[in-house]
Amino acid sequence: MPDYTVHYRAGARTIRLSIKPDGSLHVHAPRFASQRTIAQFVASQSDWIQRVLAQKADHTPTHTGPYRLFGREYQLFFGYRPDLSIGWHIVDHQVFYNSSRYHLQPKTTVSLTPDEQHKLATFTKNTFAHYVTARLPQLHARMNLAVAYHQVRFKNQASCWGSCSSAGNLNFNYQLVHYPPEVIDYVLIHELSHLVHPDHSRAFWALVAKFDGDYQKHRRMLKH
Ligand SMILES: [Zn+2]
Repeated sequence: MPDYTVHYRAGARTIRLSIKPDGSLHVHAPRFASQRTIAQFVASQSDWIQRVLAQKADHTPTHTGPYRLFGREYQLFFGYRPDLSIGWHIVDHQVFYNSSRYHLQPKTTVSLTPDEQHKLATFTKNTFAHYVTARLPQLHARMNLAVAYHQVRFKNQASCWGSCSSAGNLNFNYQLVHYPPEVIDYVLIHELSHLVHPDHSRAFWALVAKFDGDYQKHRRMLKH
C-alpha cells in the first residue's frame, strides 16, 4: 500500500486521487469518509497508481551528483527517456545513462548500485581511451620524438597518473578524464618524454617544458 496524504473537503461527495509531480499521492475525500473506506479506495486504484508512477519515471531521471568531464561540470543522471537510445548520453549539461529498466522500476536512491558503479567506470574509461587514442599520436608527432611508444593501457591506478615502461608501453589513469585537456596533455607529454629520458633529470624536465610551458601549474593541479 503506497503512502498517501488525505485532504478532507467539506463540499466533496466522492473520493478522488491525485499524484503530484514529485510522485506523492494525495486523496481528496468528503468529511464523512472513514479511514477504512479511503484505504480500500486507494488499494482499488493500485494499478492506476503504478502506471502513473512508471510514466513519471520517463521524465524524472534520478540525479546522482556532479560529474566532471574534461574540466567541465556536468550532472550525473540515471533514468529512462524514450526519445533517446539506450546507453550513455551527454545532453543539457547532463551525463545521462538511459535504460528501459528505470522505466519499469524507477531509480529511487541517489547512491549508485554496484552495477551502476561498473557502468560509470566503463563509461569513464572508454571516454578517456577514445580521447587519448586520438590525442597521443598528435603530441608524439609534435614532439618529433625518435622513439616510438608501443602499447597504451588505461587503468584506475590509485597511486599514479601515468607510467612509461622500459619497453615503451604507456599506462594512463582514466580518472584523468575529469581534468581539463591541458592537464591531460601535460601527463601525456610527461610520459612521452620518458621514452627519451627514463628519469626525472634536468634534460627530462627541459623536454617537458618545451611542449608544456605551464607544466608546473598543471602538475600542481593534479596534486589536489
Ligand atoms: Zn615521470
